[in-house]
Amino acid sequence: MTILILEWSNPLNKSCAIHFSCVSQLFIFCSVMLHLSQDVEALRGELCRKDEECREQERRLAALEQQVQERTGVIVQLQQQLEEAAQRRQELQLLRDGEETLSRQAALPLQVKYVTKTVEVESAQSKQALIEAQAHNQALQEQLSVQRQLLRELEQQLHESQRSSSQLRQQILVYEGEMERAQGQLEAEMQSLEEEKNRVIEEAFIRAESEMKAVHENLAGVRMNLLTLQPALRTLTCDYNCLKRQVQDFPYMLEKAITEAKQEICQVIGEVSSANQELLRKYKREMNLRKKCHNELVRLKGNIRVLCRVRPVCAGETDAADTKNKVTFDPDDDAVLYLSNKGKLMTFELDKVFPTQATQEEVFQEVQSLVTSCIDGFNVCIFAYGQTGSGKTYTMEGVPEDPGINQRALRLLFSAVSEKKPDWDYKITVSMVEIYNETLRNLLGDNPNEKLDIKMCPDGSGQLYVPGLTEFTVESVEDINKVFDLGHMNRATACTNLNEHSSRSHALLIVTVAGFNSSTGHRTSGKLNLVDLAGSERITKSGAEGSRLREAQCINKSLSALGDVINALRSKHSHVPFRNSRLTYLLQDSLSGDSKTLMMVQVSPLESNVSESVCSLKFAQRVRSVEIGPSSSSRRQAESSSTSSSPTHDGVEVQRHKHTHPQVTRTLKRKNQSNLRDVGYSLLSNMK
Ligand code: ADP
Ligand code: MG
Repeated sequence: MTILILEWSNPLNKSCAIHFSCVSQLFIFCSVMLHLSQDVEALRGELCRKDEECREQERRLAALEQQVQERTGVIVQLQQQLEEAAQRRQELQLLRDGEETLSRQAALPLQVKYVTKTVEVESAQSKQALIEAQAHNQALQEQLSVQRQLLRELEQQLHESQRSSSQLRQQILVYEGEMERAQGQLEAEMQSLEEEKNRVIEEAFIRAESEMKAVHENLAGVRMNLLTLQPALRTLTCDYNCLKRQVQDFPYMLEKAITEAKQEICQVIGEVSSANQELLRKYKREMNLRKKCHNELVRLKGNIRVLCRVRPVCAGETDAADTKNKVTFDPDDDAVLYLSNKGKLMTFELDKVFPTQATQEEVFQEVQSLVTSCIDGFNVCIFAYGQTGSGKTYTMEGVPEDPGINQRALRLLFSAVSEKKPDWDYKITVSMVEIYNETLRNLLGDNPNEKLDIKMCPDGSGQLYVPGLTEFTVESVEDINKVFDLGHMNRATACTNLNEHSSRSHALLIVTVAGFNSSTGHRTSGKLNLVDLAGSERITKSGAEGSRLREAQCINKSLSALGDVINALRSKHSHVPFRNSRLTYLLQDSLSGDSKTLMMVQVSPLESNVSESVCSLKFAQRVRSVEIGPSSSSRRQAESSSTSSSPTHDGVEVQRHKHTHPQVTRTLKRKNQSNLRDVGYSLLSNMK
């Protein structure tokens, strides 16, 4: 595509330039014409306005003429009245003339003597006639006075009419003058407008002429350009034809290119998806390897790890007898503990010993790899073992300002599962159970006195479950605190003295971590059992009776059963006596197989507790020599041969612990380290 555009772009550039100059000239011409037409438009507007004014003046003139006509009508009326008045005057004159004639006749000398007799006869008649004439005269006189009055009024009216007619005439004259003036003005304006119009038209004409000239010149230039353009046009036509052909061919080429591109894309998609598959496969393999490595690491540390924590002397325990330091530590070896018992120094070797000043955080760091392995689907048990008051609850639950393993483990699980998002989706649920006198109580249920049973899953998987056990899903520290508070409350409601009761029962916090990987479809399920065991102190059989004796028997039974189970597992017995106690039965799936167990043996530093401390440490030593799962390290083999295969407790003869010289211990440690290194190398080569 790019090549095609380059081929025809050169001739096009040249012709385009020429075209551009023509177009620009035309553009100038058009703009001039536009300007002119605007002027003409403005003049037209002005003319219309003037016409409108003329029409207005004409209207005013017509109104004035109408007024004049009206006035003329009034004048004609008045003249008619005047004529009538003149007629009446004439009549009056006639009457006056008659009267005068009468009075003249009356004034003539009477020819009385001559016609006395005859006149006498006639005189009565004459008298009558006279009277009548006089009456007639009287009437005429009255009529005359009325007529005179009328005449005067008419004369007055005539005067007024004459005055108003003269006023009207004057007004007419004024109006005529105004009209003449307005007409003159109008004519002058018309004249000036006409002149203006002529002038503007003339100017526009001149401008148009000059512009036309310029346009003509431009046209001539354009013609010239056209002449020069023709060859360019020819080449353009040629190019156009060529392009047309290419355009005609283009759909076919495009289709071909699209098909090729589609094929390429399909190929690339295929490659990418196979690379993705490969990556996914590798990812799964790496995940399995990581899990294996982690597991191996935990296994190398020992599937059963036994740690020891010595609690500090508390305030109020500073009795003279107790202040003597009975527990000492090896400054060079954090796995060794010395206990002075009846003047003899006993040495105990465990996986790690926490001295009195060890913090909760330090203790948790040692167990956190176990906690995280339950995210990978392993079952884990962490036990706190020891006599009452040795610090089991402190290690497991801690105090609000310094929490113990329980809360720290859940916090760690929250942060670890959130790091695995969004590939993995985890659900963390918790249950709290108490085992007292071999009965199981649901600490998170509505009825804490309700006894629970342990049953085999009906699906034939061999898994155990506790029907009716309450589970809470937790997602935050607030959730954990709420659950713990509920558990404590329920535990306290069922007993009169919580401290005493708690030392006589096992408290279990069961955390289940179920994960699902949406990209691989993998599912995992791990269980973390955090167990605060009942006090391990021996109660002499003779001393205890009634409920105390039953409690002691139950505790003894369950702790012995725990030792027996671990022992049977270590010895790979075909039968492991999980069912001998509720505790081992409940934890069966978390103790067997690939599970991991950590025993935190709590020791009191007080002299009065030394014999119990010896018992606890001996139990720990035996448990430590047991290996859960198929493989066992040489270290475990070497050590297991030196210990009893049967854990003992409370009244059972404790086999003497074979003291190991510190020098021998260090040699063994070095051997173990080299074993660890060997396994590490083999793991690395596996990964490669
Ligand atoms: P248990 O549960 O074994 O009967 P507790 O955990 O109740 O023993 O501990 C007994 C006492 O000792 C408690 O007052 C507790 O606060 C204290 N305590 C135990 N361990 C420690 C420790 N590491 N640091 C400080 N105080 C401790
Ligand atoms: Mg306790």
